[in-house]
Amino acid sequence: SAANIGVVGLAVMGSNLARNLASREGNTVAVYNRSREKTDALVAEHPEAGFIPSFSYEEFAASLTTPRTAIIMVKAGRGTDAVIDELVKVFEPGDIIVDGGNAYFPDTIRREKAVRETGINFVGAGISGGEEGALNGPSIMPGGSDESWVTLGPILTSIAAVAEGEPCVTHIGHNGAGHFVKMVHNGIEYADMQLIAEAYDLIRRGTGKTPAEIADIFTDWNGGELESYLIEITAEVLRQIDAETGKPLVDVILDQAGAKGTGAWTVQTALSLGVPVSGIAEATFARSLSSHPEQRRVAAALPGPDSTFEVDDVDAFVEDVRQALFASKIIAYSQGFDEIRAGAEEYDWSIDLGAVAKIWRAGCIIRAQFLNRIADAYAEEPGLPVLATAPYFADSIARGQGAWRRVVVAAAQAGIPAPAFSSSLAYYDGIRADRLPAALVQGQRDFFGAHTYKRIDKPGTFHTDWSGDRTESEAEDTH
Ligand code: NDP
Repeated sequence: SAANIGVVGLAVMGSNLARNLASREGNTVAVYNRSREKTDALVAEHPEAGFIPSFSYEEFAASLTTPRTAIIMVKAGRGTDAVIDELVKVFEPGDIIVDGGNAYFPDTIRREKAVRETGINFVGAGISGGEEGALNGPSIMPGGSDESWVTLGPILTSIAAVAEGEPCVTHIGHNGAGHFVKMVHNGIEYADMQLIAEAYDLIRRGTGKTPAEIADIFTDWNGGELESYLIEITAEVLRQIDAETGKPLVDVILDQAGAKGTGAWTVQTALSLGVPVSGIAEATFARSLSSHPEQRRVAAALPGPDSTFEVDDVDAFVEDVRQALFASKIIAYSQGFDEIRAGAEEYDWSIDLGAVAKIWRAGCIIRAQFLNRIADAYAEEPGLPVLATAPYFADSIARGQGAWRRVVVAAAQAGIPAPAFSSSLAYYDGIRADRLPAALVQGQRDFFGAHTYKRIDKPGTFHTDWSGDRTESEAEDTH
């Protein structure tokens, strides 16, 4: 037994993670895959890594020093359960099983509970950054027990991305906390991508600029407060010319966006937690809407403006869109962090929101300088109830909100869908409103369902006798 860490599952993610681990000082990596071909290929292609291959779970366990630590990188779902069942048979109390796949956090909570009964530690770790990140340094979001972190912490720290000298990994919280945070990361990613796509669409339709010209705008934006990996790759995608047709590639790609489900998980979870992540929801729905060609074909006959408009001052409009994008982005992140805060409360995790922002600064898809501002905001006020109210963000929105409103109006008038821009603005105006029409909704609910209401001027719960003499009486609090 000579390996301090093992990897089970040697498809693209697992083999890259294994190579990353092996390249770091002090690690010796045991590898196992269900079908032996992948193990043989990896070991043959990377002799420099010094992998210890094994071809049964017994052999795999025997090749690890104790406490045995293994990272599972297999197809999420049943594959993960199958591997856990096997590892539990050959591991001992105190050993550590890490699931690095994209698990749904309730599954992680369930698995952690079941594995804990054997005395073995189970850690659900969100790993972001795709193939490239797995090989060169991902952002890692591990959950699990404090005990497991003692052994696992240094190993994960050795392979994580580094941002401004700090490793992009932190112990997020117990059981499902890591996969929960990874889920919200992906939800924020959906919102960020949709907002960028709406900005591109508005500029193109409003100014007639070509994709390549808009690419230059994004490159320019990338030098400012919008600096991020997603803005950077957007410019590259827009600049790409299709070899076959000579057209911009973006004009040849079918406009139906796919999804693997993490955005939907984020929204479903937010709905049950009662957290309004409208930006993420609109981004997820925008992908769904795009992916129904049969509906879009028949609906194309519906009347409305033709989605073209002409702006008088091109530079001013582009700057308006930039500010609208930044303001909407602040709202999307504010909503995402609100979901993490609510999840931590619901599941009893103590999550350091500032630390989460910091480990997203490198290695993952939403990596950006901007995350430093979020970390600063939580350092200043750890209990901040609405991230967007932190001075830096509130000031940015104050400066940009005129532009934001102009852009949303322009989109609505021209008949251009901008669901993420406009829903973020509606959230902003809703959360800052001194009085909401929710009062009327409460009246309606009391009318048809005797759901009762509270009053602004005295304590207690009340009901109006709507079907009788319409007098008000104090009611029992039925929520
Ligand atoms: P896949 O999701 O394609 O899974 C293939 C691997 O799973 C193979 O090694 C396969 O073994 C193994 N496997 C499947 N079922 C079983 C089973 N019942 N028992 C044992 N092994 C099984 O691999 P990827 O490398 O693409 O992804 C691995 C994980 O990482 C997934 O959870 C995925 O969601 C996540 N991922 C994360 C990304 C990120 O950016 N964070 C990007 C891509 C993936 P065999 O060779 O024998 O078939």
